[in-house]
Amino acid sequence: MSLIVQKFGGSSVADAARVMNVARIVTDTYRAGNDVVVVVSAQGDTTDDLIDKALEINPNAAKREMDQLLTAGEQISISLLAMAIEKLGLPVISLLGWQAGFNTNSVYGAARIKNIKTNRLQAEIAKHNIVVVAGFQGINRYDDLTTLGRGGSDTSAVAIAAALHADKCQIFTDVEGVYTADPRKVPEAKKLAEITYDEMLELATLGAQVLNNRSVEMAKKYSVELEVLSSLNPVAGTIVKEKVKMEKMLIRGVTKDKDVALISVVGLEDNPGVAFKIFAKLAQKNINVDIILQSVGRNGTKDLTFTVNKENGPIAVELLEDMEIIDGKKITCATNVAKVSIVGAGMESHPGTASKMFEALYAQNINIQMISTSEIKISVIIDAEEADRAVSAVHNAFIPND
Ligand code: ADP
Ligand code: ASP
Ligand code: MG
Repeated sequence: MSLIVQKFGGSSVADAARVMNVARIVTDTYRAGNDVVVVVSAQGDTTDDLIDKALEINPNAAKREMDQLLTAGEQISISLLAMAIEKLGLPVISLLGWQAGFNTNSVYGAARIKNIKTNRLQAEIAKHNIVVVAGFQGINRYDDLTTLGRGGSDTSAVAIAAALHADKCQIFTDVEGVYTADPRKVPEAKKLAEITYDEMLELATLGAQVLNNRSVEMAKKYSVELEVLSSLNPVAGTIVKEKVKMEKMLIRGVTKDKDVALISVVGLEDNPGVAFKIFAKLAQKNINVDIILQSVGRNGTKDLTFTVNKENGPIAVELLEDMEIIDGKKITCATNVAKVSIVGAGMESHPGTASKMFEALYAQNINIQMISTSEIKISVIIDAEEADRAVSAVHNAFIPND
């Protein structure tokens, strides 16, 4: 007998018919002789709707209260799914994050799982119950509810699979797997049969929302093989694992991330320690800096340009304005930018990958504002309005259209 963890995202449980569809997938798996733990997200746009409700009342609400609110979304879907499974005649129990033993740290809105106390989960499995667990949530040392950050249910599923040493972890969603680009934006995108943890981690971090990046990080750490597949179409999905068969593909995917703010400081003194002071100040406030560019300015000065998450843009500017070395210097913060990236382990051994990407952008007359590279990815910062066109152009250049 195998233990299978199945996770269903918001669109897979969006309404009564979809909940019944999920119940059938789960009960078929159980009837085939497996133990099943199911992780679900909130229905459809519930999480966004709850956030809007909060914003109407208090845009600066305490993060603890936001988590108290947002965990309600998953409570609705676990109970409804349990009722659907009950209707199909199988033993089932739904558990909130804390009931399933999810202990997290206290960073409300972006909590990290510290451990899962599996006693209850194991006891329910031993009673032959199908166990339906609320994704995206846990409890901290003060007995307060926490959430794991947007898209966090993927991480809940992987964490359970790791803690219970499950035989399989299946992530069901509204597309058939991981594609070479978002299939909703690039219809020619191809489904990948397999992808490595490292490549998937880059894709997820750089904007492919199909898997949450922390879930991939955790899957790699605990060697949990993931299968990403459709809850609506029973066809083979994508396997995410450590090593995959060699393919001729130079790149695995193209992504877009609009969650970018571009900050520039012009005319800084060209002295040692300037970069250190600026980035130390941002680090103190936990502001993550992504791409950094330092260039020669006028009259022996230097200019510094860097990117942060959109929500951190105004905070970073405020911090910089308070700094003595920046006194009187011009600071700008642009949010109409996007990061377009290509990812693939193959590019390491292929000179010319960058130039091919830049040529595709040039052919579309798209201007590159910044560039950043690593062994398995190349990212460019461009105008946000051109992002979709850029993704298509770069995708066409690298992925043969057969
Ligand atoms: P769920 O609600 O199941 O968690 P998400 O909306 O979080 O689903 O993620 C699935 C979506 O991710 C798809 O509908 C698709 O539009 C988007 N997506 C972005 N990039 C990719 C990609 N490279 N491959 C597959 N889907 C992608
Ligand atoms: N419901 C949460 C969200 O919308 C968690 C998830 O979907 O994974 O972000
Ligand atoms: Mg998701």
